[in-house]
Amino acid sequence: SSSNSLVTFETLESNVRSYSRTFPVVFKKAAGAILEDENSCEFIDFLSGASALNYGHNDPYILSDALEYLKTNGILHALDMATSVKREFMELFNEIILRPRGLAYKFQFAGPTGANAVEAALKLARKATGRHNIISFTNGYHGLSLGALAVTGNRYFRDAAGLTAAGAVFMPYDGYLGADHDTTEYLDRILDDHSSGVDLPAAVILETIQGEGGINPASKDWLQSLERLCRKKEILLIVDDIQAGCGRTGDFFSFEFANLSPDIVLLSKSLSGCGLPLSLLLLKPELDVWLPGEHSGTFRGNNLALVTASAALRKYWTQDSLSKEVAELGGIAGERLRQVAQRNGDLNLSVRGRGMMLGLDCGKSDLADKIVRNAFEDGLVVERCGAEDQVIKLLPPLTLDRPTLQRGLDILDRAVQSA
Ligand code: PMP
Repeated sequence: SSSNSLVTFETLESNVRSYSRTFPVVFKKAAGAILEDENSCEFIDFLSGASALNYGHNDPYILSDALEYLKTNGILHALDMATSVKREFMELFNEIILRPRGLAYKFQFAGPTGANAVEAALKLARKATGRHNIISFTNGYHGLSLGALAVTGNRYFRDAAGLTAAGAVFMPYDGYLGADHDTTEYLDRILDDHSSGVDLPAAVILETIQGEGGINPASKDWLQSLERLCRKKEILLIVDDIQAGCGRTGDFFSFEFANLSPDIVLLSKSLSGCGLPLSLLLLKPELDVWLPGEHSGTFRGNNLALVTASAALRKYWTQDSLSKEVAELGGIAGERLRQVAQRNGDLNLSVRGRGMMLGLDCGKSDLADKIVRNAFEDGLVVERCGAEDQVIKLLPPLTLDRPTLQRGLDILDRAVQSA
């Protein structure tokens, strides 16, 4: 692990200050769940690019397809022209992911990032319904470009744009107002009430387990009642599965446990299988309403990322062993975190999560910060999330082996003790 002293400073001096991740080393290499810095110090990675590396760093099977593609003059950029790798990806995705789940969607590739997919979804929902409002949720996070920011709950982020959330109506997420509050019932009432000030929305956008907002899982009942309301009022349901999708919670889609059938699903982060930028909207066929050219972008559906995305589908999703593994690893990690919380009762820690998306809520930002720093000194990369940055979030690669998971948890355990 690192012997550097832990102070917050920019490791790359020309970086602007908006780069908030200030681990005091420069990273150079990575394999699986291990990051290595320029001094050959190793760190276990429990951040995984905020869930962009569900299959770990440089998975050899995924990389070999990418290298082969590059060596044989595969097309890297085609500006929306049809390519064989794009066709292959769509066929595979249909065959391996959608058909077995009884889902049918059309594919709209967005620009490279998650926020690009969110922007496209909001725009499409408005065009398809002719309505303007979007319902989003307290603590929700959908990206920091203007449209995505408008439906992101965190005022700290929204203040950075001097932006009021035009067209966004925030509702309490599951649990936000305690167990007695029924968001669906409230929403139903205000949408029926012509004097409530809330016009019928085009869409509801949500994460089924909030990532950046603090690892807040919504219950199956809450999600299902919200979906029923969407159907009743003909509001589109958009599930942002950018962080929780691609196996993070155990299932490929995070909404499978609640049997939802969203109108639009957003994927990015781990979709390419190896950290290459790629984002995708899955939309119900009747939402294919944009005319040619109405939505476009130079870097939609990067071909190399589609090659690696197909490799990831083939390697990890042709059998359901990854889902079982995630359930087991998540069980081990959750249990250990609960033990840590119990043993350090004076710190009032609590544990939340689903699958391999876990959060250790420290209640206070400075305590979480201290634990993260202690852990880094001891060789573990973890990050914080939540409204006050008070939650330590654990997003290890889904493919990491048990001894590495245990070592990471041991480090975290020690980091809590010494905080
Ligand atoms: N939605 C969710 C749920 C996310 O977690 C993120 C990224 N943390 C985004 C959207 C935005 O993705 P990007 O950072 O690639 O724009």
